[in-house]
Amino acid sequence: MRIETKCVQAGYNPGNGEPRQIPIIQSTTFKYDTSEAMGRLFDLEDSGYFYSRLQNPTCDAVAAKIAALEGGTAAMLTSSGQAANFFAVFNIAGCGDHVVSSASIYGGTFNLFAVTMKKMGVDFTFVSPDCTDEELEAAFKPNTKAVFGETIANPALTVFDIERFAHAAHAHGVPLIVDNTFATPINCRPFEWGADIVTHSTTKYMDGHGAHVGGAVVDSGKFDWMAHAEKFPGLTTPDESYHGVTYAEKFGQGGAYITKATAQLMRDFGSTPSPQSAFLLNLGLESLHVRMPRHCETALKVAQYLEKHPKIAWVNYPGLPSNAYYERAKKYMPNGTCGVVSFGVRGGREAAAAFMRELKVAAIETHVADARTCCLHPASTTHRQMSDAELIAAGVSGDLVRMSCGLESAEDLIEDIAQALDKI
Ligand SMILES: *Cc1c(COP(=O)(O)O)cnc(C)c1O
Repeated sequence: MRIETKCVQAGYNPGNGEPRQIPIIQSTTFKYDTSEAMGRLFDLEDSGYFYSRLQNPTCDAVAAKIAALEGGTAAMLTSSGQAANFFAVFNIAGCGDHVVSSASIYGGTFNLFAVTMKKMGVDFTFVSPDCTDEELEAAFKPNTKAVFGETIANPALTVFDIERFAHAAHAHGVPLIVDNTFATPINCRPFEWGADIVTHSTTKYMDGHGAHVGGAVVDSGKFDWMAHAEKFPGLTTPDESYHGVTYAEKFGQGGAYITKATAQLMRDFGSTPSPQSAFLLNLGLESLHVRMPRHCETALKVAQYLEKHPKIAWVNYPGLPSNAYYERAKKYMPNGTCGVVSFGVRGGREAAAAFMRELKVAAIETHVADARTCCLHPASTTHRQMSDAELIAAGVSGDLVRMSCGLESAEDLIEDIAQALDKI
């Protein structure tokens, strides 16, 4: 199946006379005839459902669709993108371990890594996505367990050189984890470029309607944990908390990582999505391939308009030929990047705020990537916890306005921007 067909049909195959749409199995628990039958599930001897904190059929069907879209072997849904990135890293890096991360990442992920996971004993080294080979090499330590980056960083819109970072990660015997939220699998499939694990905030384009908060973790099944067994004891030695199962042996390269994340992390942290929420996500996924090209087309028109406007200091959109990441974006995302454009309003912080107050079609929201156009001033909102140096490292300047172009008429959006700029 091509990706368009997967968006509509993957993950759920109803049998004769069964519901055409994915049923919402809104049940915490599942009934068994014997304790022995249920016991086999607890021992991971049989697959099946017993408690929705760990797994639920509705959520699993939607996870299977996302795995198919990314070209992975297994996936799990989480209750948010934050939980997805936490699980993706913590599944293989614990206290005393180290991770190399791009510095140009979502503010919430930066905080998770630099503050909260640091308190848990996981150490991060942040590198520019455009660092030299020497700088990248110097970031690795003997206890490095993973490399992390975002395909298109939110909100800096830097484009991650997936192939290069995958090569460096693999040379050090560790996997590359890529947050593919902004590009979506419609525009980029990181596994095709060497990434091993993909994460998503499904809250964004995958849902696409601002109706659901959720996340996903997808395994490519390509990383050979056993070949680097000493680095990943959680996958390659018996888990005493799960009846001595060795995930990489029992579930193989394609299943070990997600099974471990489900059996340990979801069991213990419980960041599980509701079946109702997974159902809403699936409705969004059914039209992802139709919506993404329109988001990109409109964003390009808006970026081209802004680039010519005298009251705009600069425009950052990786789809613009003038953009520093244009060539890299063409390589990894030949059909388009995303619907988010950032730009600086001449006059800095205050001019940007005044401009946003005048907008009528675009609303001020922390959100991005839904059907309704919205905009944000990151330096005074999402990124306000960062120091000036960290802001610069993350590619966020004080005058930056981030606009997420929705599915309205591009002409209406441009007229709205024009009238707002006229008033300042
Ligand atoms: C929004 C976002 C997240 C966090 O996702 P939530 O669903 O809000 O928890 C992570 N990564 C990226 C790139 C995002 O845009």
